[in-house]
Amino acid sequence: MKLARIQTVSGPRVVVISSDGKKFCQTFRADSGGEADMESLIGELVASGSKLTAPPGDADWKSLDGVKLLAPLSPRRNVICVGKNYHEHAKEFQQSGFDSSSKDGEHAPPYPVIFTKAPTSIIADGEPVDAHRQITSQLDYEAELAIVIGKGGKAIPKSEAWNHIFGYTIVNDVTARDLQQQHRQWFLGKSIDTFCPMGPWLVTADAIDAANATIQCRVNGELRQNANTADLIFDIPTLIETLSAAMELHPGDVIATGTPAGVGLGFKPPKFLQPGDVMEVSIDGIGTLTNVVA
Ligand code: MG
Repeated sequence: MKLARIQTVSGPRVVVISSDGKKFCQTFRADSGGEADMESLIGELVASGSKLTAPPGDADWKSLDGVKLLAPLSPRRNVICVGKNYHEHAKEFQQSGFDSSSKDGEHAPPYPVIFTKAPTSIIADGEPVDAHRQITSQLDYEAELAIVIGKGGKAIPKSEAWNHIFGYTIVNDVTARDLQQQHRQWFLGKSIDTFCPMGPWLVTADAIDAANATIQCRVNGELRQNANTADLIFDIPTLIETLSAAMELHPGDVIATGTPAGVGLGFKPPKFLQPGDVMEVSIDGIGTLTNVVA
């Protein structure tokens, strides 16, 4: 099932999206008028042990045309991110000269590389990424599969990890490469306002084979990234085990799993983003997240 947040006259609402992505159903909780945020819905479902009911009949669907989509989540905590988690991308990053984090000759990290993006960087599908030309001239895209935690927990073993996932969404980990390099730390160059496009919606865990999904990024229609999540260096259970050993995970937490090869800095010369560029990130079973650089 696809779940989105839309803007209504009475505020944000969580809605069900039709399988073709063209319609929405206002609510599956007629008594309450619907949930305002995804985290509350996930927390409630986890606490009650209940499942979402199937979407209602044809008459209850409305067209998404003209409806403002919001990012599917509005987390209070930072978006947790994994760096250098595909072999080919780790290699292109290490060889680009922009990587101030790896040892000489080291193409793949021995442990997951973890950083975060501020929640204030999140924007929705269709919203513009502000190029921030006054502080960066090396703007880059990163297509990523993002995990949405359902049942929280600490010290979750790999064998239990899949049971803690509510669903998945798409994140474009937009990055200012010059800031990432200059500051020798990734938070600043990745947490700039508007640098975390997320959406267009989330899909529940049953709707996608997250361990074997095609992930692609196009810029102005040109295919730049084309990989499969099966190629993750540290797979989803390993990431959840590693993170939850250190910090309690909560319902609605977002974990972006890393980007494959084909980012702008990997080209010779690099293909950094310019105002007007259209980024489209697609993942099988979820959909396409589209944002323009402004
Ligand atoms: Mg990334």
